[in-house]
Amino acid sequence: MPAEQTTSGTVAVIGAGVIGIATALNLLRQGRDVVLVDRLEPGEGASFGNAGVLASSSIIPVTVPGLMFKVPKMLADPLGPVYLRWSYLPRMMPWLFKYLRHCTEDSVRHIARHMAPMTADSLDEHQRLAQGTAAAERITTIPYSFVYKERANFESDPLAWGLREEHGIPWDITEGDAVHEQEPALAPQYKCLVNLRHQHGTIDHPGDYIKDLAKAFTAGGGRIETAAVTGFERADGRITGVITDTGTINAETVVVAAGAWSARLLKSLGINVPMETERGYHVELAKPSIKPNGALMVADGKFVATPMGDELRLAGLVEFGGLDAGPSKAPINTLLKRAEIVFPGIAYESHTEWQGHRPAVSDSLPVMGPVDGHPGLVLAFGHHHVGLTCGPRTGRLIADMVMGKQLNQDMTPYNVARFQ
Ligand SMILES: Cc1cc2nc3c(=O)[nH]c(=O)nc-3n(C[C@H](O)[C@H](O)[C@H](O)COP(=O)(O)OP(=O)(O)OC[C@H]3O[C@@H](n4cnc5c(N)ncnc54)[C@H](O)[C@@H]3O)c2cc1C
Repeated sequence: MPAEQTTSGTVAVIGAGVIGIATALNLLRQGRDVVLVDRLEPGEGASFGNAGVLASSSIIPVTVPGLMFKVPKMLADPLGPVYLRWSYLPRMMPWLFKYLRHCTEDSVRHIARHMAPMTADSLDEHQRLAQGTAAAERITTIPYSFVYKERANFESDPLAWGLREEHGIPWDITEGDAVHEQEPALAPQYKCLVNLRHQHGTIDHPGDYIKDLAKAFTAGGGRIETAAVTGFERADGRITGVITDTGTINAETVVVAAGAWSARLLKSLGINVPMETERGYHVELAKPSIKPNGALMVADGKFVATPMGDELRLAGLVEFGGLDAGPSKAPINTLLKRAEIVFPGIAYESHTEWQGHRPAVSDSLPVMGPVDGHPGLVLAFGHHHVGLTCGPRTGRLIADMVMGKQLNQDMTPYNVARFQ
C-alpha cells in the first residue's frame, strides 16, 4: 500500500465538511501549509443538516439481512422512512445491485468490525479537535436513546444489539413509567428506551460547529478558497494540484474529502468508486413547546429528534434520487407529521426544512487512504450515516497518513484498492 510521506509543501483539501475541516486542522497543527477548497462556505454540505449525534454505537449498516423484503412496505407507507424518485432507478441499478449484496450476516459483521474503530471514542475525538476553539461550546454530553414502542421491538433486532455487545458498546434500558420520567415529552405508546451514554453526545447545530472550526483554521494560518474543483493537475505521473473554476492551486498532496460528490470528481482520473447519495432530510422546529432531554432515535420512524439550542431538529429518512434533483415534499411532510405523533401536543413558532446528501459507498465502509498509481492523492470520504461521528478520527488518521506517520490502525479495509 503506498503511503504519502510528504512532510513539507502545501496540502490541498477538497471539501469543507466535517471530514475536510478535521483533516485540514490536523495537518495545520502538524505544521503543514494547508488550503481548504470548497465551492460553498464551510459546513454547508451534509455536515450542515445532520442529526448532530455523536453515535459511537452506530456500527450497523443499513444493509441488514431481510432489508429487500421490507423496502416495498416502507415505500408504500405514507409516513415511511424510504423514498424513491422512480425515474432515477435505472441510473442507480448498478450501485443498488452491489449495495444489496451486502444484506447478509457475514457482511454486517465485517462492516461492524471495521466501523467500530472509526466510531469509537467519538466524544473524546471531538473534544480534542475542538479544544481551544469556539466549537468546543457546541459539544454536549446528553444521551442518545433508541425509542421503541415495546421491549419486544428492541429484542427483535438481536443481530444489531448483539454486535454492539460484542464490540463493547454498553447500554441500559428504561421501561414503563420510568420512560416518561426520563422523557416526559414522549407519546405514551413508546414504552422502552435503550440509552447509550458512553462516548455519545451531540453537536449543537453542526454547520455552525464546522464554521467555528474553520475560523480556528484560518486564525491559525490555514487558507480557505471558495471555488469549485473541476479536475486535477498532474506532472510526471503525480498529482500536483487541483483545477478550479477560478484557477489552479498547486499542492504536494491533494486530499479528496468532497462527501457524496467525491466519486464524480475521481472519474476524471479513471478511479471508479461505487457510490450513491442517500438523500436525507431535516425539519427544525423553532421554540417548540416541548423538547426531549436527550437525542432520540425513533426506531419505528427511522429518524432522530435532537434538541439544539432553542430548536428541535428532526433528521433522517432515506431518499434515492441522485445528486442533482431538488428536495421532495413528502419526506418533509413525514417528519412534520411524525413530530406530532411522537411528541403529542407539540407547538412551535415556525420551522425550517433541509435536504442533504449522505455519501453512500456500496459496501458501507468509508474510502480512506492513498491511491495506488496516483502519488500525491489521498481519499477521505464515504462515511454514510456517521460522518459527524467519525469526522475527527478520520481527519487525524488522514493527516498522519499524509505525514507518513506510523498508524495504530490497519487502514487496508478502507483503501479504494478494494474496488479496483
Ligand atoms: C439527514 C441526515 C442525518 C444525519 N445524521 C447524522 C448524525 O446524527 N451523526 C453522524 O455522525 N452523521 C450523520 N449524518 C451523516 C453525516 O452528515 C455525513 O456522513 C457527513 O456530514 C459527511 O461529511 P463530509 O465532510 O464527507 O461531506 P459534506 O459535509 O457533504 O462535505 C462535502 C463538501 O464538499 C464540497 N464539494 C463537493 N464537490 C466539490 C467540488 N467539486 N469543488 C469544491 N467543493 C466541493 C461540498 O460543497 C461540501 O461542502 C446524517 C446525514 C443526513 C443527511
